[in-house]
Amino acid sequence: MGVCIFCGGKAGLFRKEHRECRARYNEGKSQIVDIVSSSVGGDTDYARITSDIQEIASECCISEDQIDQLIKNGGNKAVDAAFEDDFLSKQEEEDLIRFMDHFSLKQDNFNGFTRIVKGAILREVMEGTLPNRMKFVDIPFNLMKSEQLVYAFNDVDYYEQKTKREYVGGSKGVSVRVAKGVYFRTSSFRGHPIERTETIHTDTGVMGITNKHIYFFGPHKQFRVKYDKIIAFTPYTDGIGLQRDAATAKPQTFSTGDGWFTYNLIVNLSQM
Ligand SMILES: [Zn+2]
Repeated sequence: MGVCIFCGGKAGLFRKEHRECRARYNEGKSQIVDIVSSSVGGDTDYARITSDIQEIASECCISEDQIDQLIKNGGNKAVDAAFEDDFLSKQEEEDLIRFMDHFSLKQDNFNGFTRIVKGAILREVMEGTLPNRMKFVDIPFNLMKSEQLVYAFNDVDYYEQKTKREYVGGSKGVSVRVAKGVYFRTSSFRGHPIERTETIHTDTGVMGITNKHIYFFGPHKQFRVKYDKIIAFTPYTDGIGLQRDAATAKPQTFSTGDGWFTYNLIVNLSQM
């Protein structure tokens, strides 16, 4: 006779769970995610939330480890909601940080944090403030005086165009003006991955974005490009393309994995 993994009761021959216990367990998990995600913002009574979660967990046989994961899932759901309009307001950022503090979510154990930082950096750039939020270690770039590193991407694939092509200014999708800057919504990037058949993967390395240059540092290639030498930027789902202002310059593309952030950051920094 098998024993139910949830209630410990007799489950029947070759059975490890009761159907009702499994259903209650799944229902409890989604309830916790909903409670957590809707706790962000406003005058949240976090003590109440915590006791509600504990109560559901014990009723539905959800373990402490699972609670931790469900809280992160709820947090990510709240981050999704904050980005529904593709923009993270100051208030939304503060609410999310308070939420993280309460549930002891740390930068390195909650992946929603990266999105919060990116949203906050873009907002600051768009408001005309140079963001200084990141602490960088082992920077391979030799920055100029009065130059500030705003963001750095690891493991960026760098591609060069095989043949020179005239730059054709196509549709860039829908842009929205926010404060000073021009801002592209996530939907503008869908279906525009970097075209890899016409490009050569030249190197993989660190890409640094400052208030003056784009830097690239890889085992084979190291260079920087000044913003005022760039005549066109191309948004891609997974990165950005640029065309330098030189007769011989071939288009260069950088795959960071996050075209929305990369493009909005670089285009707005270049106009600061
Ligand atoms: Zn059971």
